[in-house]
Amino acid sequence: MQVIKFEELAGYLASRKDFIIQLGEQTGIGSSNSLIQKNGLIGVIDCGMAFEGTGVNKITTFPAGDLLRGIHIDFIILTHAHFDHSGWILPLILAHPESRVFFSKKTLELLKVVLEDTLNIQKKVARAADRTGLEAPAPLFTKQDVSEFLARAEDGSYEVFDSDNEDVWITFEDWPGWEFGFTFSGHMVGAFISLIKCPDGDGIVFSGDLSGHKQETTDGVKTISESFLEMAKFRDCKRIILVIEATYGNRNRAETLETSDARLKAVLEETERHGKQALFLVFQLNRGPNIVKKLVKLGFKVFVAGGVRKTLAIEVGAELVAKWLADKTVIFIENGLNYANMLQSAARGEYGFRPVVTSSATLDQGAGVEFAIQMLPVKDNVLISTGHVFDGSAMQEFFQVKDQPIGPGKTIVLDRMIDNSLVKTPVNVRCRGEHFDYSAHSDQSELVTFVDGLKPDMVFVNHCMEDGFNGLRSALRDKLRDDSPQIEHLSHLRLLKL
Ligand SMILES: [Zn+2]
Repeated sequence: MQVIKFEELAGYLASRKDFIIQLGEQTGIGSSNSLIQKNGLIGVIDCGMAFEGTGVNKITTFPAGDLLRGIHIDFIILTHAHFDHSGWILPLILAHPESRVFFSKKTLELLKVVLEDTLNIQKKVARAADRTGLEAPAPLFTKQDVSEFLARAEDGSYEVFDSDNEDVWITFEDWPGWEFGFTFSGHMVGAFISLIKCPDGDGIVFSGDLSGHKQETTDGVKTISESFLEMAKFRDCKRIILVIEATYGNRNRAETLETSDARLKAVLEETERHGKQALFLVFQLNRGPNIVKKLVKLGFKVFVAGGVRKTLAIEVGAELVAKWLADKTVIFIENGLNYANMLQSAARGEYGFRPVVTSSATLDQGAGVEFAIQMLPVKDNVLISTGHVFDGSAMQEFFQVKDQPIGPGKTIVLDRMIDNSLVKTPVNVRCRGEHFDYSAHSDQSELVTFVDGLKPDMVFVNHCMEDGFNGLRSALRDKLRDDSPQIEHLSHLRLLKL
């Protein structure tokens, strides 16, 4: 139960004792990267990157341990495609050809999009650095790395399964006594909960990111189903040890999803009555496709730009997206010569009332910035944020200035990418701003329901700040009383014995 220095890890590994440690950073959005040693095997669950601050001042934090070079890793599990879980996974997998690697089919589809984007961004950053005579930052990975990874994923070198549609248990002849199980987690398309049955009789559950409530693209998962547990007689385990996320361990949703939807519809209808437009800035994974589907459900037509164009079919279904495009329920911005014209037309409402959904959830670079430059200065337009507002982001700045009285100084400065250079651009803010909490994470009550259903003997809480841990622990103790298991915070570099 102690915080160690990474250099001490080798000694603990050599001891062959069972333990778990979190190598990811927990500040800001945090990154997830757990290492477990159990019954002689060493496994890694997720390998993400964390961001603090945004835009050009963004600091990327890598998990401790330089890809664990020199350590024999027996298995690597990637729970879902979000960057804070997957951002550093490709170099980790390539650095450990000895590992068995587990992920879902949908995660692979989304990773292809994310990896291609990362390569493009790296190219742009390198060109911009070249132009200014600065040294380009070292690339995270190369085009060859990506091709190699994708080729191996296709040729069956990795364990890739469709956990969105069916529960799976996997065993290996050379690992007698081990069983690996995967079941959908509700968090986003492709996300799963991982279960490991160990030879000594222990059962370990890694929740990954969870959602107990329904989203537009996924059904919520309240707790792990008994039928899935029964497939591997998991209830017979000597101990059930749960490692659970607690991003929202300290809070419950402020309004019901139905109330949020009704409020959203009212805001959009009012904007339409004024003859003005709405701009949604979203992450391209999960949130973007969810918002597009929600808007269509609420009866609106949608204009889509940025990376959401690529993730929409993967998360919503290719058939439905093809139908939307054919009947113009959804219009995609076109790359190339038409791009600038279409952007202007959409921003000015020339396609009728049609909310714009585009990536750049933080308003720091990305496709959304160009729309913001056009749309923020117009009174009665509305900018809608549907996720966490990050500290230091232009989005946060927007929400700080939007309610100030009109006058000089009611501007925010956005980073615009022109000819591979960043140009600081002041933008007047006259539009409205609204925030909706369409979280993809279980809130406190949903986390408690999950734990109560599984009834673990030990709970390790990770992927949260101190307040998330404290919130979940007290809620669990209130609910479970005398049955409350031991609860520990698996924070950065804290080594917990199993
Ligand atoms: Zn996630």
